[in-house]
Amino acid sequence: MSLLSIGTLAFDAIETPFGKTDKIVGGACTYIALAASYFVNESRVVSVVGGDFPKNRLSDLEKRGVNLEGLQIKENEKSFFWSGKYHTDMNTRDTLVTELNVLESFDPVIPESYKDDTTYLMLGNLAPVVQLQVLERLSNKPELVVLDTMNFWMDIAMADLKKVLKHVDVLTINDEEARQLSGEYSLVKAADVIREMGPTYLIIKKGEHGALLFHGTEVFCAPALPLAEVFDPTGAGDTFAGGFIGHIAKTKDHSFENMKRAIIFGSALASFTVEKFGTERLENLTIEEINSRVEKFVKLAHFNMDLAVI
Ligand code: AMP
Repeated sequence: MSLLSIGTLAFDAIETPFGKTDKIVGGACTYIALAASYFVNESRVVSVVGGDFPKNRLSDLEKRGVNLEGLQIKENEKSFFWSGKYHTDMNTRDTLVTELNVLESFDPVIPESYKDDTTYLMLGNLAPVVQLQVLERLSNKPELVVLDTMNFWMDIAMADLKKVLKHVDVLTINDEEARQLSGEYSLVKAADVIREMGPTYLIIKKGEHGALLFHGTEVFCAPALPLAEVFDPTGAGDTFAGGFIGHIAKTKDHSFENMKRAIIFGSALASFTVEKFGTERLENLTIEEINSRVEKFVKLAHFNMDLAVI
């Protein structure tokens, strides 16, 4: 079993109603790989950074079991930079700046040893053309391919996105993006349209309102934990994806029932990420903390009902 994730290792500058950061380390793949590292011994990464990316942050990732053999460091270039500002509801945000920098010419190089040994593939948020290249450059088709994307790529590369979706098993996107991708307002209709595009499983993330999993005629609805303090939602979606695929890789079980559990693990990890700016909280969790949060989700969603009462 091996898990490979792609996506950005980046600098983010974030503004929320509770504070503001200068450039801090973020990036979709940083959150994914960290979240997955709680489930697998080795969380592999294919990505690119510039010479400005702090080397000590790379060793922090390695200490957590993230394997950076597939990371390119372009010493004379700048890392990807994203800046966003959250609205007062913390559920919606505006992108203020996206500087692709090293991503502009990113040509993903897959280490030889990964090519025929990637069982689980997490195609994190990146240009769809790069996501497709990674799939094409593997010698074996992974057992499960999960893809995450965002409105930015739908705006500028919808045709490429539709091409890569044909090869994807599970797509994770938020409700707004599901509407943009499908052209449907109803999420149920959107789920039907999107699954015609390729993925047999669709996860629609609804921020503080939880997530929906669609497969065949079945739907599972996971809650989000009501939190007293949400400090910075950045990376919640990526953390969710890393926890989701991490649990599936650990259990090697792709059934709908197990995907429900994977969604709860992903949601539990994401609930930690939002408690602090950046990856700070996600880097220092104990298994006990994760398990106790998962228990809270189980209690939150559980109820008994005597159907004869109606
Ligand atoms: P999330 O809050 O889970 O949607 O992800 C936020 C992370 O995605 C940030 O750390 C950003 O660096 C990264 N990000 C933002 N825009 C893009 C983009 N267009 N492509 C790849 N990664 C991005």
